[in-house]
Parts: sequence; structure tokens; C-alpha cells
Amino acid sequence: IKKIGVLTSGGDAPGMNAAVRAVVRAALSKGMEVYGIRRGYVGLLNGDIIKMDERSVSDIIHTGGTVLYTARCPEFRTQEGVAKGKAKCDELGIEGLVVIGGDGSFRGAADLSAQGVLCIGLPGTIDNDIACTDYTIGFDTAMNTAMELVDKLRDTSQSHDRISVVEVMGRGAGHIAVNTGIACGATDIITKEVPYDINAIANTMLAKKAKGKQNFVVIVAESVGHSQEIANMLQEKTGIDARATILGHVQRGGSPTVRDRVEATRMGYYAVELLEQGIGNRVVGIKDSKIVDYDIQEALAMHKEYDEKLHHIAEEIAF
Ligand code: ADP
Repeated sequence: IKKIGVLTSGGDAPGMNAAVRAVVRAALSKGMEVYGIRRGYVGLLNGDIIKMDERSVSDIIHTGGTVLYTARCPEFRTQEGVAKGKAKCDELGIEGLVVIGGDGSFRGAADLSAQGVLCIGLPGTIDNDIACTDYTIGFDTAMNTAMELVDKLRDTSQSHDRISVVEVMGRGAGHIAVNTGIACGATDIITKEVPYDINAIANTMLAKKAKGKQNFVVIVAESVGHSQEIANMLQEKTGIDARATILGHVQRGGSPTVRDRVEATRMGYYAVELLEQGIGNRVVGIKDSKIVDYDIQEALAMHKEYDEKLHHIAEEIAF
């Protein structure tokens, strides 16, 4: 195929720029024309589309956010919206489209694929909550950011003999929480995947304190929330001063890590290889370190396991 487009959609994630760069450069290298579509499906419908050349993606591999901007587009959830998107692609001669985003964005890509545009989804979200892949672009950077911030809180919480309750991102899943918890030596990890008992947590803290433990870091996943209430309850039950900190959107920003840049580049290049072969309606992922691709509907129906073993290891050795 001769002309392709690329867009970023849904929540942004560090490494999206590395993916955009890989798609643009791979396509140009294979003699295709590439269009950058701004603000996801919004730009597709409004015609906010720019032709990309050799220099369009210069100096972005190390930056967070997305140079193509991202947005949510309610209109694209309707049949009329998708038909309008297809018409826009036809008008510009765009035969293939790389969609970097999450499950919602892939649903849109499946609808557009059904209209005859070859769409390839690339998993871009800090939450790592896409079932068909072990890894999503942005996950590693977000975990490293969370880890650095928790380390800083730990310093001050140690000095004051405090409980630090830290809420990390993860709208639907506790993958960031469990990994950050392990990496920061958290005393407790609270995610929606594993039931917890606040009385048991408080009692265990008191037992650990009696044996000399001075600081307690509790990682709470965004999907559980209520971190201020959790801090209040722990303070009330243990008599230890407790503070809640919600890390929030700082975890979405920053320069992507090596892992995010490498995986984004691998997957971006692979997406163009699929399009080159005239293959569409696929989501690209990484399974057991190998690059894979699945039918979009099949990918959306998959279920992702939470690493309960890791969760229990963290708690077992935190004494
Ligand atoms: P994410 O891609 O991160 O999951 P959203 O769920 O917000 O983010 O989806 C991003 C965009 O994808 C939506 O604003 C909409 O344009 C499109 N989209 C989401 N769900 C659907 C759907 N069921 N059908 C068609 N398009 C959808």
C-alpha cells in the first residue's frame, strides 16, 4: 500500500512519540507516504491531518506526551462517525492507519477496519491493562516515575516514623501498584484484584512496629482509590501518624525509559510491516518477549492476569 496515517488516541503515555517516529520513518523507508492525524479520531473527522516527511519526527524520541496530540472522540462511537472517517481516508487516499492507544481506540480501529481501511492497533497506555500484550508503551516510564516519587516520600516518612499511603495510577488494574510496591519495598499493596482487610493491615503494622520497624509505605492502586480514608483509618487504628499522597498525572509524563523507546520502536516498525503486506484489523503486542499480532476483536475479548504471586511476595518479605 502507498499511503498510511498514524494517530494517538485516548490517554497519552510516554513512548507514544517513539512509536509515531518509528511508524513514520519505517513507512518513509519503505517508500510509503505518511500522514499524521492530530487529536486521534477528532482530527480524522475534522481533517486535521498533516503530511509527514523525513524531519517531521526529528528530536521527539526522548520526549513524553504525543506530538500528534490525543483526544477522545464521542462521534467516532457512532456509525455515521466511522463512515465519515472512512470517507476522509478515501479523500486523501489513506489505505492503512496505525492507531496508538488503548482498548477504546482499538474498538474504533475495528469499526474502521470493517469499512475497509487497514487498521493496526499499538498498545499505548501507562496502565498495562491491555490483555493481548505483556507490555504497553508507557508502562515502564510510569512505574519508574512512581518509584522515584515513592522513594522520596519514604525518606521523609522514615524521618518522622510515619505511614505513607501512596496512590499510584492504574484506572482498571493494579499492575503499576504491584510493581511499584515491590520496587519500593512497600509494607502493603492494596489493589482491587486481591481482597484486603484494613484491621489486619493495622494489626500487622503494630506488630512490626513493636519489633522496631519505623516506616510504612502502603501503595494503593487508583482503581481502589480512597487513599485519604485509608490513611485516616490506619492512623486511627494504629496511633501512627499517616499521610496520603495521590501521585496523579505526573506519572503520565516524562522522558520515556529505554524499554519504552525500544518496545515502541519495535512495535511501530512491525505495524508498518503488516500494512506493507496488506494486513489490517490487527493489534500488535509483546508476548514472552516476542512480537505478536491478533485480530482486534479477538484481542479485545482476551483477559489479562494480575500477578498475585508478586503481590504476596511483596507482603511476605516486608517485615
Ligand atoms: P483508550 O483508547 O485509552 O481506551 P478511550 O476508551 O477513551 O481510550 O477511547 C478513545 C477513543 O476511541 C474514543 O474517544 C472514541 O473515539 C474511540 N472509541 C472508544 N470506544 C469505541 C467504540 N466502542 N466504538 C468506536 N470507537 C470507540
